[in-house]
Amino acid sequence: MARELIRGGVVLPMEGRRAVFDPGSVLIDGGEIVAVGPVEDLDRLAGEADVVDAAEHAVMPGLHNCHLHSGLLRGTAESLSLWDWLRTYVDPAHRALTPAIAEAASLLCYTEGLRFGTTSVMDMWRFMEGSARAAEHVGIRATLVPYVADEAGFDFFESLESNRQLLQTHRTAAEGRVRTWVGLEHLFYCTPEAFSAAAELADEFDTGIHTHSSETIWEVEESLRRFGRRPIAEFYNRGILGSRTVVAHCVWLDDEEIRLLAETGSSVAHCPCSNMKLSSGPARVRDLRAAGIAVGIGSDGEKENNNLDLLEEMKFASLLQKVSTHDPTSGDPWEILAMATLEGAKALGLGGISGSLEPGKRADVVTVDLRGLHTTPLLHGDDFNAAAHLVFSASGHDVRDVWVDGRRLVRAGRVLSVDVEEVRERAQAAAEELFARRRELPHTPAS
Ligand SMILES: [Zn+2]
Repeated sequence: MARELIRGGVVLPMEGRRAVFDPGSVLIDGGEIVAVGPVEDLDRLAGEADVVDAAEHAVMPGLHNCHLHSGLLRGTAESLSLWDWLRTYVDPAHRALTPAIAEAASLLCYTEGLRFGTTSVMDMWRFMEGSARAAEHVGIRATLVPYVADEAGFDFFESLESNRQLLQTHRTAAEGRVRTWVGLEHLFYCTPEAFSAAAELADEFDTGIHTHSSETIWEVEESLRRFGRRPIAEFYNRGILGSRTVVAHCVWLDDEEIRLLAETGSSVAHCPCSNMKLSSGPARVRDLRAAGIAVGIGSDGEKENNNLDLLEEMKFASLLQKVSTHDPTSGDPWEILAMATLEGAKALGLGGISGSLEPGKRADVVTVDLRGLHTTPLLHGDDFNAAAHLVFSASGHDVRDVWVDGRRLVRAGRVLSVDVEEVRERAQAAAEELFARRRELPHTPAS
């Protein structure tokens, strides 16, 4: 792997402080970050390194997408309520899914994410041997989480047995970039026995657990009706909360549920676009973080977002906080950047190797072009405004270069690891096949 000096940019190390090197450089070698600091200091260290000119670019850690579902339903079922949409639209598409279609979806989603500056995804999806191949091909970090469901009528999802098989072959793969966790579909899709078996499986393989919860008020009311507890309290009761558990959404939590997440060291994946688009509501991000819970950012699926652009997602994360708390000091750009980088990495258990630009960490690095009309003026010193530009003005289209594990996978906005046109054509054909197969299925009425 090349020794490269990413030189003269606006470097935001995001190692837990609001500090920048402006201008600064990042030196990477053998897949690792060797040094981060002022330009002159790193020029002295660089030796024969290849120089990547980062003038007027932000240089920041790669983004962690903490909740994603690979998929091909983008733009096809708009303006439905969450549970009707799942029953009448999403679940039939799951019934029609094949391994080849699923792999094409992962290839598309990982390529899109990478192009937009995401260096790590946690993907809840199906037939994930194909997702593992896609992740290795694209070069992105991927935490694979099969959609496990065992309630009657959901036999078309993954099972704990298929999750176990994936753990056996892909507990870690692709030099550690691909990992497998234990996944659970919605609370009402899984029996209590599945929860305890999932906790045991995660223990047995020394790995994490991921599920999504508390998106809608209905879900909370239904959980109270069926189990006598709110969803997070029920998770606690079923023994799946812990320091390697990430729960997506967590919109409708009471104080006690926040306390349970904090006490168990569980993390949250916040999905602002999805929460707005499905009219779920605003998560209590400020309260979650104040309780010491790591809150990462997720795009959720392509069908409820409808893109996988985490730079855009950061803007929504900030604005949703501001509008829901009526407090303009909430959703501060630095806090949002922290959630998308180091806090997300910590949630995924990757905080030791990724999420910030620090010597010794793996080189997951992104540069963002700040020379656009929409990122002008670019100011320095006391008037520093690049952090705000990244959250409020820039989008994934401004991402220039991306490294994962020290491998440069995007150069000047062009993905190097895969043939993008081929990825797109394969996804297009797979989607057409999926919709044709779905039309053959009997109609599912709304619940
Ligand atoms: Zn989800």
